[in-house]
Amino acid sequence: MKEECNDLLHDLDHLLHGELAADKAASLKQHLEDCPPCFESADFQAQLKALVAKRCCEDVPDGLKARILGFLQDDASS
Ligand SMILES: [Zn+2]
Repeated sequence: MKEECNDLLHDLDHLLHGELAADKAASLKQHLEDCPPCFESADFQAQLKALVAKRCCEDVPDGLKARILGFLQDDASS
């Protein structure tokens, strides 16, 4: 897994919460187009966020988020 991919996963978390600056969001999207593993991770996280929002619970518990991020990182490095 590339170092910039770790940064991207971090930025992605902010993006999903609507807290990422527009210029960062643009470079993040560019990276996703060039990096299939990150694209798959982003898709997974976006789906998860939609699922959580549907359940009327905007905040994902920290423990769950850590588990998901750990899963994504393990998955991307295999
Ligand atoms: Zn990447």
